[in-house]
Amino acid sequence: MRLVLVGAPGSGKGTQAELLVQRLGLTYVGTGAILRDAIARHTPTGRLVQPLMDQGLLVPDTIVNDVVAELLQRPDRPERFVLDGYPRTCAQAVAFDELQVEARRPLTGVVSFAISDDEVVRRISSRRVCVDKACLASYNLAFRRPRLDGICDKCGSALLIRDDDKEETVRRRLTEFHKSTDALIEHYRRNGLLREVDATQSVEAIYASVLASLGVSTAKAVDFKKPM
Ligand code: AMP
Repeated sequence: MRLVLVGAPGSGKGTQAELLVQRLGLTYVGTGAILRDAIARHTPTGRLVQPLMDQGLLVPDTIVNDVVAELLQRPDRPERFVLDGYPRTCAQAVAFDELQVEARRPLTGVVSFAISDDEVVRRISSRRVCVDKACLASYNLAFRRPRLDGICDKCGSALLIRDDDKEETVRRRLTEFHKSTDALIEHYRRNGLLREVDATQSVEAIYASVLASLGVSTAKAVDFKKPM
């Protein structure tokens, strides 16, 4: 199974991607995480994208397309995956379609998470991430709290608000998201791959809706408190 998740930052798609990995054994491919890793390792791509990401702006299509193509054309590429945060624009979707056709590995479905901007801002302001670059566990004070306030359950490091999770940056990211996503969703609606779920429900209910939209019936028990 090869899936794409489309949703605003804070729509919960990252959490759902993690659950899909556990439930369906898919490989997680998150372009935000790949780019943050490139920044942390000071690679040429990392140096190029850092100023854009710090401002909450999208990285140019060509850079992200290359990052994804490189990953999915390697000999050890994942056969079954869930893409989180890519494609984000219609141009990326077209480039990705070509990649899939070349590899003869079509997408199974594209799941879109519907949620209002105000709800996204409320959710993101309660998000915390581990400062340890080797850990990067994430928590949410609203529904996935760490055992000790401000301390990572996994490694004991401090928890902080990510720079691009600050409200002003989030609003800018949402504007960017809406500018590019309407056409993207329309693209996938036209080719019959789009599945829409209500992302204002609980984590458990959204997960059930995602599985139902994909025609997967039995949900295995999942520990929703576990850090991602
Ligand atoms: P995310 O973790 O998915 O919210 O992504 C964090 C940031 O990475 C975004 O605000 C963009 O700057 C950049 N980014 C991630 N994926 C893409 C993409 N597909 N296209 C353009 N920029 C991206």
